[in-house]
Amino acid sequence: MEFDFVIVGGGSAGCVLAGRLSEDPALQVALLEAGPPDTSALIHCPAGIALMARTDTVTQSLSTVPQPGLLGRRGFQPRGRTLGGSSSTNAMAYIRGQAADYDTWVQMGCPGWSWDEVLPSFLKAEHNERIHNAWHGQNGPLNVTDLQSPNVFSQRFVEAGVQAGLVHTTDFNGPTQEGVGLYQVTQRGGERFSAAKAYLTPHLGRPNLHVMTGVTVDRMGLVDGVARQVHAWRDGQALTLSARREIILSAGAFQSPAILMRSGIGPAAHLQSLGIGVLRDLPGVGENLHDHPDAVLVADAPGHTDLIGLSPRGVWHTLQALWAWRQHRKGRLTTNFAEAGAFYKSRPDAAQPDIQLHFVVAKLVDHGRQLTLGHGYSLHVCLLQPDSRGRVQLADRDPHSAPLIDPQFLSDPRDVQRLRDGVRQAQRILAQPALAAYGKEWAASADARSDEQLEHWLRQNTDTVYHPVGTCRMGQDKMAVVDAKLRVHGVPGLRVVDASVMPRIVSGNTNAPTIMIAERAADWIRGSRP
Ligand SMILES: Cc1cc2nc3c(=O)[nH]c(=O)nc-3n(C[C@H](O)[C@H](O)[C@H](O)COP(=O)(O)OP(=O)(O)OC[C@H]3O[C@@H](n4cnc5c(N)ncnc54)[C@H](O)[C@@H]3O)c2cc1C
Repeated sequence: MEFDFVIVGGGSAGCVLAGRLSEDPALQVALLEAGPPDTSALIHCPAGIALMARTDTVTQSLSTVPQPGLLGRRGFQPRGRTLGGSSSTNAMAYIRGQAADYDTWVQMGCPGWSWDEVLPSFLKAEHNERIHNAWHGQNGPLNVTDLQSPNVFSQRFVEAGVQAGLVHTTDFNGPTQEGVGLYQVTQRGGERFSAAKAYLTPHLGRPNLHVMTGVTVDRMGLVDGVARQVHAWRDGQALTLSARREIILSAGAFQSPAILMRSGIGPAAHLQSLGIGVLRDLPGVGENLHDHPDAVLVADAPGHTDLIGLSPRGVWHTLQALWAWRQHRKGRLTTNFAEAGAFYKSRPDAAQPDIQLHFVVAKLVDHGRQLTLGHGYSLHVCLLQPDSRGRVQLADRDPHSAPLIDPQFLSDPRDVQRLRDGVRQAQRILAQPALAAYGKEWAASADARSDEQLEHWLRQNTDTVYHPVGTCRMGQDKMAVVDAKLRVHGVPGLRVVDASVMPRIVSGNTNAPTIMIAERAADWIRGSRP
């Protein structure tokens, strides 16, 4: 049970690291994943995402603590818990964010992370089926493609966006992000293309790659001040693994800080309150949690069975689609639901687009956990650069306990104001003829006209769009957890490589940026001397 590298968490980042590090046959690499292998058909059939939030086979359904900014509600925080992690359960939209996001990281004390420096790693990761230009990669493992069978309503949404004054774009990852269009997705041949499919599955036969599922990591142990041991549980049995060179934490924005804290690395007072001995007082561990706050507008479109919904004809269409997908990997079950979107400025004087839309070809209520009859469509409106900041803490010392997740959604009044402005523009899009001819926005949001009414609706309805980051943030100041090479401050032999290291959230979905982060880390690690 001794390896050169022990990687904790087989998610977006962990799969990249395992695949890249094991390219060198001289390195023994272990990947530990708490969840099962990624064999569920719900993962591979893109539309399976609709059922994943309802079953906990490959998803861990976490909740936030009550959020004062959301009238005391608890938010829902699902995370992928299988090989591929959240890339096996996400909505597959391929977005990198804006150049300015990464340039800001440099200003925040993270040299080497400017847009010009990160772009080569995005290109290295990517194989874009359609777009062949300097902005896209061709030879990477991660397949990026257009949707096979986009819904007619997604096209109508794009048309409505143009009618509302947005520019039509065929590439949100080109020179400008602003505009309205269909998303490109991480799929291939009508199947989801997770980080596991891209970086792990093809290499499972490598003799130096040891993938262990069903292993829940509890904590790490230091030998002579260096991170060397990983203590874990599998089927009720304790397990200890050793790392000759490095332990790499890739357990995601909630669990990486939790594992650090259980290991005695974190805010001293919090650790002491739980009886955990402090090995390294790092006050920033678990702090700086932020996420894209998001509210969903829903519209009824009765009788429009092109949209996925519950009706006798809708069920019949879905059964036919199931057959088409099983036989040919084609048809409406290749949908990622959030097929189209837009990026725009909440107000004209904003420096960058600060609102993102995801147009969903079904009625989406409570993350899909609440069934609604009939057909309709939905529009996620999310704020890309929130100012609210929260934290993750341990509830207790048990590695199987959920952490206390407190994103402090809408605690900063600026977030409310910008999201409100963003929602008003989204409502204008829904009201354009290309869409309004078919559907009607639900009264709860449509009738919220004054600032106060809309703010109240937002506080009743806002939640996550599933992009928590920042809890082991990069930097050089006292609250930073890792340095710009992702090494944990003051703990040799230990890195964190996942979405938790982002000092500030990117302006878009977080899977591709997390994969980029892991590609860079793998390059550095392989280039460094033992
Ligand atoms: C429902 C949903 C929809 C999303 N939609 C999109 C989208 O359309 N586009 C996009 O770009 N992004 C999307 N995202 C976000 C994106 O998928 C994540 O930001 C990204 O996958 C995070 O990668 P990660 O490596 O940080 O963590 P994860 O991929 O979550 O991986 C962490 C892994 O660590 C494992 N783990 C945790 N604790 C332990 C432990 N103690 N021991 C062992 N293993 C452990 C977990 O089981 C998991 O497999 C979505 C996310 C979700 C949940």
